[in-house]
Amino acid sequence: AELYGIRNWGAGYFDLNESGEISVKVTNSTGATNTVSLMDIASGAVERGLGMPLLLRIENLLDAQVALLNQSFAKAIDQCGYRNVFRGVFPIKVNQQCQVIEEIAKAGKPFNHGLEAGSKAELITALSTLESTDSLIVCNGYKDEEFINLGLQAMRLGVQVFFVVETPSEVATIISCAEREQVRPNIGVRIKLASKVGGYWNATSGDRSIFGLGSNDLIAMVDELRRHDMLDCLKLLHYHLGSQVPNIRDIRTGVLEACRYYADLVEEGAAMGYLDLGGGLAVDYDGSKTNDTHSRNYSLDEYCVDVVEAIMGTLDSEGVEHPVIITESGRATVAYSSVLLFDILDTTRYEPVAIDTNKIGEDDHPMLRNLKEAVDSVNSSNLQESYNDALYYRDEIRSLYLHGQVSLRERANAENLFLHGAQKIRVLLDEAEEVPVDLQSLPVALSDIYYGNFSLFQSLPDIWAIDQLFPLVPIHRHHEAPTRSAIIADITCDCDGKIDRFIGRQEEQRTLPLHELKEGEDYILGSFLIGAYQETLGDLHNLFGDTNVVSVRIHEDGSFDYSREIHGDSIADVLSYVEYRPQDMFERFRKLAEKAVKDGKITAQQRKQILHTYTASMSGYTYFEK
Ligand code: PLP
Repeated sequence: AELYGIRNWGAGYFDLNESGEISVKVTNSTGATNTVSLMDIASGAVERGLGMPLLLRIENLLDAQVALLNQSFAKAIDQCGYRNVFRGVFPIKVNQQCQVIEEIAKAGKPFNHGLEAGSKAELITALSTLESTDSLIVCNGYKDEEFINLGLQAMRLGVQVFFVVETPSEVATIISCAEREQVRPNIGVRIKLASKVGGYWNATSGDRSIFGLGSNDLIAMVDELRRHDMLDCLKLLHYHLGSQVPNIRDIRTGVLEACRYYADLVEEGAAMGYLDLGGGLAVDYDGSKTNDTHSRNYSLDEYCVDVVEAIMGTLDSEGVEHPVIITESGRATVAYSSVLLFDILDTTRYEPVAIDTNKIGEDDHPMLRNLKEAVDSVNSSNLQESYNDALYYRDEIRSLYLHGQVSLRERANAENLFLHGAQKIRVLLDEAEEVPVDLQSLPVALSDIYYGNFSLFQSLPDIWAIDQLFPLVPIHRHHEAPTRSAIIADITCDCDGKIDRFIGRQEEQRTLPLHELKEGEDYILGSFLIGAYQETLGDLHNLFGDTNVVSVRIHEDGSFDYSREIHGDSIADVLSYVEYRPQDMFERFRKLAEKAVKDGKITAQQRKQILHTYTASMSGYTYFEK
């Protein structure tokens, strides 16, 4: 477990069991815990026809995170004597999948946990999913009249919809729609905070943020609402510092600045009553508990207490009543609940084939003999020098090959000799007191490539797009020491489709310790904490479609059910997404086969077999099928 840091990033949900497999741990209503091996879940899914790659959603973890967020705020509110409540909303964009949103709505019902909608489609989702009108719907994003009218109509049904003004021009639209519909809207306003935060997603804060109103626009909005006698409708102040805010100091600074705006809006005569902090609650992806981009230097309890205290500290001194606290935590709510499981199809090793260097002699090209000499003379005191020499002679031979001056066999000998020398140096580097700078990347250059049955672009797009780190670990064989060091390649034909940065013991771990493949046995890796943003941001690169998905529910007695399952896209599905018509394609292929029969190239029976193969492929999974 320590090798892969499981206990650091697993948040108590993931650990190893006595069989050396990764298990998920859930707490039942009596406070007792149950653990289930991910291998058991995976093999049951495969038996049911849901093969790798497989996206696993663990419903209990979603429920647990929704409950934890609400309970932590309730505890902080109680502890600090805060005189109002917490009402969380889940931002639908973070994971829009129906299974996920329905589960959040169900788990959130006891806490009146609501939804945040950033578009018309998301508002429609929120309206038809939330199970209680006590839960809030916060509408962010650009809103046209249709969007606003739908929200206003829903308010007639008792639904608590808030329209958050993101741009100055929206104010007039909301006012005119509300006057037409004769509904008093709940208006919120998003402000641009000057506070800028650390982390990847900080473009949403600061003066140049593309969203929110600056102080002049805010004054203009207040005046406009006052002119329409609608200051009683201005109830909510919203800001969003950015996602994955790793430093608690930034969270506190944001709250303090926002509270100044809040108090002044109260002073201006706005009704207020709600303070919406947006998202930003980070996930400790690397388990380092630091203010590094992939971590956070605070616990959930600390986050809640700091938020509550910061609000009280500012508003109490201004004599302003405590508002309802809203957060739009997305990442922290859903990250834990999804795991991508995939099998390893093959490996490449950068090792020389068995070599008898004595066979290289007088008859061989002088460059090859020089290379042999450089390799033979490697010792712990000349690592850098002999590496430079070997590299030089190998490159010379490559260039001689280009000019037709050495044969393919001679080149192969040279490549092999070079690898032989490089591996000799790598072994000696392990014992070296100081590794020369030029040789620091040698272990990575000589590491294996493990080919995984998945598409990075479809399932883990943030790794490609923004160098996100997710814990990646074999889900079994932890009783055996991993003897290989590897990077992972996916099955797209794209050289960017690789994972070569990992969470581990070193700050910048460039290879992953893995086990040798065993003949006839699957080797399955899990990419953890991927429930946020990955599914919808994924794309169809190389026409690899959605993977199989299963949701699992672990019961009070420790048994589990496959509560929902969705078969991944077929080839016909993905082709239709890119405007092909599988029926027309079949017809064209059928004509080709028919002509071949007519021309005597195949028999009618062979035609039957060929067309059967074609249709079976069309309805098959887009990934490697065993
Ligand atoms: N609210 C708004 C307005 C956002 O733009 C985002 C995402 O960046 C979120 C909430 C969710 O943030 P997080 O996933 O960090 O909680």
